[in-house]
Amino acid sequence: MNVHVQGCQVAADGAPKPVRRENGQREVFCGLTGIVWLHRKIQDAFFLVVGSRTCAHLIQSAAGVMIFAEPRFATAIMEEKDLAGLTDANDELDRIVAQLIARRPEIRLLFLVGSCPSEVIKLDLSRAALRLSQKFSPAVRILNYSGSGIETTFTQGEDACLASLVPAAPPPRTSEDQLLIVGSLADVVEDQFIRLFDALGIGRVQFLPPRKAAALPAIGPNTRFLLAQPFLADTARALEDRGAKRLAAPFPLGVEGTTAWLRAAADTFGVAPALFEAVTQPHRIRAERALLRYRVQLSGRSIFLFPDSQLEIPLARFLSRELSMQLVEVGTPYLHREHLAEELRLLPDDVVLSEGQDVDLQLDRCRAARPDLVVCGLGLANPLEAEGMTTKWSIELVFTPIQGYEQAADLAELFARPLVRRAKLVA
Ligand code: SF4
Repeated sequence: MNVHVQGCQVAADGAPKPVRRENGQREVFCGLTGIVWLHRKIQDAFFLVVGSRTCAHLIQSAAGVMIFAEPRFATAIMEEKDLAGLTDANDELDRIVAQLIARRPEIRLLFLVGSCPSEVIKLDLSRAALRLSQKFSPAVRILNYSGSGIETTFTQGEDACLASLVPAAPPPRTSEDQLLIVGSLADVVEDQFIRLFDALGIGRVQFLPPRKAAALPAIGPNTRFLLAQPFLADTARALEDRGAKRLAAPFPLGVEGTTAWLRAAADTFGVAPALFEAVTQPHRIRAERALLRYRVQLSGRSIFLFPDSQLEIPLARFLSRELSMQLVEVGTPYLHREHLAEELRLLPDDVVLSEGQDVDLQLDRCRAARPDLVVCGLGLANPLEAEGMTTKWSIELVFTPIQGYEQAADLAELFARPLVRRAKLVA
């Protein structure tokens, strides 16, 4: 066990918010999980996991709904002889990639995704990607990243994937400032944001990841980027290495978060305050009205967020400020102080924050508090439900469109639904 509490540097009104740090046993999915939403987002990409049967099972069960479609992910299973070094894993990989590309000519971007087994035998997938790229480019670009569960959490798979795309992005063709939205969003949400930016007069908006491999955004010193997801530390660093500048903002969850996020872009691109007001006000009013019925259901209810998706802090801000929920504890696997600074400022001063996990200790705190609702991973949800607690699976929050004005009420409903279900069960 390794627990300590220390003050972080983020101040709300001058008062630092203490963060409990834990470094014990954790209960989280690995980064391979990101393939489930990323393969739907980049429509001509393929994800080839270089891993074990366990990895294949994880991906297939997490993405079980795709069973009727021809999936754009697969696992090159490393057998015992590969792991024991009895065969050349690189030769095997080259053979499988050649077969795959011959069978699926529509693939334009192939990710070789590392796993725990490939890391354990130190299979160098970056060299493999380089070697295979030379063979198959320009028809197919081949990149690599790691989705291994060794010291990572499941949303870091997206971070690693997007970071691997950055060096492949072209330089800008113009010196004009460009807005880049970073983090995968459902297409419907992306389209709503495109319309809003357009109405604000910010027409040159690009997205990472793009929907098509050939549409990789141009990146350079004139790129101003807004993070749409709070778990993209490596991607942000890679963008900054290319000269891009991050716009500090809360994340676009709820009415307040969405408005502040849009405002960060509007201020940078010189949008007049009156235009910003005229464009956003009807959306804000409609979204606030839609939130009302959920505020009635959720106000005053207590909630405990276990560390899982890294969305916990923006969610806690939304739940406490827009729905008046009581935060018992807000856990996050990692706390990126810089990217989360605007969020932390908006949390109540007495919020209990924890970073990392020692799952048994955290379960004890949760049981002692008996919150009305617990947000946690799948592994904890069933035992807690059996103990009479009401839970929400945090992974659902990553799969569901929750960003932007139109989705604010849908996001609130995700928290109201388990409470309604529990009320029906005990009635
Ligand atoms: S990458 Fe590691 S943690 Fe993830 S499924 Fe494979 S073996 Fe398990």
